[in-house]
Amino acid sequence: MPDYVFPAPPTVTVPVVGAGGAAFPVRRIFCVGRNYAAHAREMGGDPTREPPFFFTKPADALVTGGADTPYPASTANLHHEMELVVALGAGGSDISPDAALAHVFGYAAGLDLTRRDLQDEAKAARRPWDMAKGFDASAPIGDIRPAAEIGHPAAGRIALTVNGTVKQEGDLLDQIWSVPEIIAALSRLVRLEAGDLIFTGTPDGVGALSKGDTLQGDIAGVGAVVTRIV
Ligand code: MN
Repeated sequence: MPDYVFPAPPTVTVPVVGAGGAAFPVRRIFCVGRNYAAHAREMGGDPTREPPFFFTKPADALVTGGADTPYPASTANLHHEMELVVALGAGGSDISPDAALAHVFGYAAGLDLTRRDLQDEAKAARRPWDMAKGFDASAPIGDIRPAAEIGHPAAGRIALTVNGTVKQEGDLLDQIWSVPEIIAALSRLVRLEAGDLIFTGTPDGVGALSKGDTLQGDIAGVGAVVTRIV
């Protein structure tokens, strides 16, 4: 054991359904931008011409177990983005789309919370998105369901309600880049590792949140993410 000058931070984990209490240890969080045509259009993009692009969040941005999510500092426009999350159980570089799903441990429902005002400023100034996307508690996530149990969902309803009202609704079929294509593209940019999570983009209907809002996101065959903004 190495000596540390102060206690090392704990490993971030996500609960796994049916794993007898064993948890998924998180290494990194990658996110895909603009992966549903209708959302690309609502953000002013062109879904037909843009290859997948990626950004990251720190692992300790996760909010698990249905815990409350604190409304973040330095924004007046916190947005919800409801997403399918891929949890990798094996790593690799230059993974082919055909081989990609063999690297997946399981799936979860997640929220890519976004300080939209800071993102708009960053876009206008051609600056990075880190502080718009990678802030504390920016990634609420439901429990992971193993692919060995649920398979690899490529179709099915993905939806988010805020205070019981449907705000986002789409189908995984509407993803511009499929999960195998996302894994393949990302693995050409970085070496992926077991423990990496990939948020795969949001359908249209993103919008602002307020303190007191209760969020429930559901993905057919995968599960739910629940949190309250406090
Ligand atoms: Mn997103």
